[in-house]
Amino acid sequence: MDLASGSGSNDPVEPPEPSPQPSGATRDDDGSGSRSILAPPQPPSRYESQKRRDWNTFLQYLSNHKPPLTLSRCSGAHVIEFLKYLDQFGKTKVHASGCAYYGQPNPPAPCACHLRQAWGSLDALIGRLRAAFEENGGKPEVNPFGARAVRMYLREVRESQAKARGIPYEKKRKRAAGGTTPAMEVSVDVGGGSDGGAGDGGAGEDPATSVV
Ligand SMILES: [Zn+2]
Repeated sequence: MDLASGSGSNDPVEPPEPSPQPSGATRDDDGSGSRSILAPPQPPSRYESQKRRDWNTFLQYLSNHKPPLTLSRCSGAHVIEFLKYLDQFGKTKVHASGCAYYGQPNPPAPCACHLRQAWGSLDALIGRLRAAFEENGGKPEVNPFGARAVRMYLREVRESQAKARGIPYEKKRKRAAGGTTPAMEVSVDVGGGSDGGAGDGGAGEDPATSVV
C-alpha cells in the first residue's frame, strides 16, 4: 500500500453545501416501485465530501511527516500525533488549570490560554477517517483510527475539556441567522454526538479543512 492509492485527485475545492437535503430523503415521492434504476448521480453528501477532505488531509500529513511515514506503518500513536498537530488550527479556547476562567463556559474577558480542537470535532474526524481507511483498502484489524490508544486519547481530551470549559455547555452556539455559511463550517453536526456525551458535535469546528 502506498500513499498515492486512493487519493487520486488534488482535492478540488468543493462548494460548502451542494445541497441542503440529505441524499435519499425525498426518494419515495414518485411512488413508482422502481426507484433504483434511474437514480441520477448525486453530488456527494456533506459527510462524504468531508470524509474525502479529511482523508486527503491525513495523507498529506503523512507525506510531510518526518521521518517519512507510510499509511501501512501508521499506528494509533501517529494518529494521536496528528490530532495534536491539528490543535494549532483549533478555535476552541481551553483554559489551563491556572487560568482564572478555568471551568467557566462563558468567561467575561479574554485570556491567554490556547485554542484547541474541540473534542467533538476530533471525535467526528476520527470516525470519518476510520471509515475512509477501510474504504481505501485498509483492513479493519489494523485500522489505526480504531486503535485503543486513540479512544483513550479522545476520552482524555473530552474529560479535560469538560473540566476546563465547564461543560456541559449550553447550546449557545446558534449562529446568527442569514448570511453565507463560511466554508470552514462544513463539518458541523456531521457524525458527532454518537455517544451522548457532548452531543452537539463539539460546537462546529472543523479540524481538517483549513489544514490543506
Ligand atoms: Zn483561560
